[in-house]
Amino acid sequence: MLEVNSLTKTYDIFDFGPVDLTVDDEVLSILGPSGSGKTTLLSLIAGIVDPDGGSISLNGDRLNGCPLQERRTGLVFQDGALFPHMTARENIGYAATDRDRIAEFASLLEITDVLDRRPPTLSGGEQQRVALARTLAADPDLLLLDEPLASLDAPIRRRLRRELHALFTSLEIPVIYVTHDQRTATALGDRTAIVRDGAIEQVGSPMTVINRPATQFVARFTGNENLFDATVVEQREDTALLRVGNIRLQATTAAAAGTTVTLCIHPSRIQVYTPNGGDDPHDENTVSGTIDRWLTEGNEYRVEVDLDDAPITLTTTIRPPSFDQLPLETGSSVRMTIPPAAIHLLS
Ligand code: ADP
Ligand code: MG
Repeated sequence: MLEVNSLTKTYDIFDFGPVDLTVDDEVLSILGPSGSGKTTLLSLIAGIVDPDGGSISLNGDRLNGCPLQERRTGLVFQDGALFPHMTARENIGYAATDRDRIAEFASLLEITDVLDRRPPTLSGGEQQRVALARTLAADPDLLLLDEPLASLDAPIRRRLRRELHALFTSLEIPVIYVTHDQRTATALGDRTAIVRDGAIEQVGSPMTVINRPATQFVARFTGNENLFDATVVEQREDTALLRVGNIRLQATTAAAAGTTVTLCIHPSRIQVYTPNGGDDPHDENTVSGTIDRWLTEGNEYRVEVDLDDAPITLTTTIRPPSFDQLPLETGSSVRMTIPPAAIHLLS
C-alpha cells in the first residue's frame, strides 16, 4: 500500500498540495487538465523531485530520502527514454527479473514484431510500449505511469485499456496511471482521482466521478455537460421535486425546499424518443424540444436539444440503433426522458 501524507511542493508560480492519498493494490487513475500537477505528483512519489513537506511510504517503509535505485518503483513517462543503441528486446531485458515474461509482455502490448529493432526506428507509440514492457519486466513494487499511451491510435488504445487493467491487477501492487483522457481514466482505474490546480478535487470509483461528481469542475471533466440551476419545489420521502423554467423534474435525492441547486445529468443517461412514436414509457420526467445541432462522435451521436419549456439546451448521446429510428435533423422535434436517479445535485 502506498501512503502519501500532506505532500507539498512549491514552484515559482505553482503550489502543489497538500495532497493526501492512499493507494492499495489497485489501479488509481489520475485525471486532470494540462498543468494541474499530475506529473509533479508522480515525480514527487518517484523521488525525482524532492518535496517541501509531507511523507511517502510504501508497505510501511518510508520512501522520503530513500535512494532512487532502492525504491523498486517503476516509472514510465510519456517519452519513455529507451537506450537507442539496444534493440527493443535488449531494452526490455535490461533490468528484467524474469526473462521468460518478455515474450508475454511483448505479445500483450502488441510489440512482438518490433523486438529486434532499435528505438530510433520505432514509432512514438511503439517506443512507449517498449518502455512500458521494460518497466513491467523489472518487477516493481510500485508502478507510476505518466500518459504512457498518449501516442497510440484510438483502436489500439481501446484494446490495451482492457488488457492493461487485467495485467495491472495481476501484479498486486499499487499502480498510478496519469492521463488527461476521461475514457482512459475511467476504463483503467479501479478508482479515479481528479486533480485541479495542484490539489485532488475528488477520488472515487469511475461510476462515482461520472454520475456523482462532487463539484462542477469534476462534472465537466467527466463529461457531464448538462449543468443547470433549478429550484427545489418540495421534498417527499427520497424524491425532490425540481423546477427549471416551466419544467418539473423528479430527482431521487434530498434537497431543502425553496433552495436553488445545480443539477447535473450525464448525456448518456437521457433516453430519446420520437414525438409520436407511441413508445414513451410515461410522462414523468419527459421533456420535449427541438434539435439544435448533432454530430458524430466515435460510435455514438451527440445531440443538442433546445427544450420547449425552459431556456436550456440538453446534450444527449444516442447509439446507432436508436439513431437510425429517429428523425435526427436540425429542427426536428424529439422527446426525452430523464430517469429520476440520473439527476445528481451539486451543492
Ligand atoms: P501536468 O502534468 O498536470 O500537466 P505538471 O505537474 O507538469 O502538470 O506541472 C504543474 C505546474 O508546475 C505547471 O504550472 C508547471 O509549469 C509547473 N512546474 C512543473 N515543473 C516545474 C519546474 N521544474 N520548475 C518550475 N515550475 C514547474
Ligand atoms: Mg504531465
